[in-house]
Amino acid sequence: MNVHDSEKIAGILKSEGYIETDCPQDADLVIFNTCSIRQKAEQKFFSELGRLKMLKKRKPGLRIAVAGCIAQQQGKKILKRVPYVDYVIGPQNIHMVRDLNKANFAKIAVEDNLLIADTELPVERKDQVRAWINIMYGCNNFCSYCIVPFTRGREQSRPSHSILNEIKELAHKGYREVTLLGQNVNSYASDKSFPELLKEVDKIEGIRRIRFVTSHPKDLSDELIIAIRDLEKVCEHIHLPLQSGSTRVLSLMNRKYTFDEYLKRVDALRRNVPGIAITSDIIAGFPEESVYDYGLTVKALHEIEFDGIFAFHYSKREGTKAAAMRGQIADSEKLSRLNEIIEIQNEITEGKNQSLNNSVQEILIDGPDEKNPLKMSGRTRGNKIVSVTLNAMHQPIKPGDVINVLIIKANRHSLEGEVIPE
Ligand code: SF4
Repeated sequence: MNVHDSEKIAGILKSEGYIETDCPQDADLVIFNTCSIRQKAEQKFFSELGRLKMLKKRKPGLRIAVAGCIAQQQGKKILKRVPYVDYVIGPQNIHMVRDLNKANFAKIAVEDNLLIADTELPVERKDQVRAWINIMYGCNNFCSYCIVPFTRGREQSRPSHSILNEIKELAHKGYREVTLLGQNVNSYASDKSFPELLKEVDKIEGIRRIRFVTSHPKDLSDELIIAIRDLEKVCEHIHLPLQSGSTRVLSLMNRKYTFDEYLKRVDALRRNVPGIAITSDIIAGFPEESVYDYGLTVKALHEIEFDGIFAFHYSKREGTKAAAMRGQIADSEKLSRLNEIIEIQNEITEGKNQSLNNSVQEILIDGPDEKNPLKMSGRTRGNKIVSVTLNAMHQPIKPGDVINVLIIKANRHSLEGEVIPE
């Protein structure tokens, strides 16, 4: 979500005549688009900001803006803490970046933007094959550990015609894959439901693949599972955050599903969409997570066998319910649980990848393989990265091509394959 917001900020600035530079010394304006989902991201941002202090002294005309979730959360506190910051712009107000040149621009823009879903902004995309598209903004779920509802506001769905027009335009420009973005895409509700929206995107000529993130397990409907099963372009992959294998901890997290309910959704997905890749998020060391609860998460990993997970230790976010909970776990214990989870999952992921050995996979080519320019890199429909050896007999392969590849080697985090002659 943040990376795509950065693409929008870059798009607005470009339309205002700015030219991008990698070098802060050359810049007239530096914008930090920040993330506050975890403490580490916040620390990294403040240390990066500190590096600009001397530059601002040498070049007083340089303007520095802080955008994103830290801007929203801390507002004018940032100006107090770092007086050489010129502007603070929350994620619901990035459209105001276009007004930074105006003399009367207020230093702080963090108010709720009730029109965010109707606001169309230019986008400067980094990728030329795959594109992110916002279909909704904000979140109503208030998971007890999460800062997002406080920084991105309540849910607002973008009208379907605006989404479909953007995707048609992307298809026309040669984009082949779209990822529909929202904190909880399953609760998308405008003039269409989410499965209805997928049906419309599926009809757009030129688009070969459709993905979406993120799905909340409590809102994963049978209609959506059927859409994944029946719609040709919707990839057989879902990111379905579990967070904990303990129903007691899930309730403390305010996730609104039990572990059994989660399992039933996974069963329904696997029954209807054989071979579907399922990835997830896990939090280790949530307040009050006992050794028994933690053991249930480990058991869940073995039972479900995700294709991959993003695992983090619990990070206290001021202003959330969990930050005030008793039973906070010591950092050393959180880390040790996290490391064990990562190790267990690494083996499972490797096993899952091994099971694809000798199979034929449809690959959408992204571009040259960064590690070996003689190869190309792409992804399976299950979102696994594949390094593809080119075949002298095959026609040249370019980004955006969709080809069949024989998987010849499975590594822990990627696959290797050979083009199948046509
Ligand atoms: S669903 Fe929960 S974890 Fe996801 S953004 Fe909303 S509050 Fe945060």
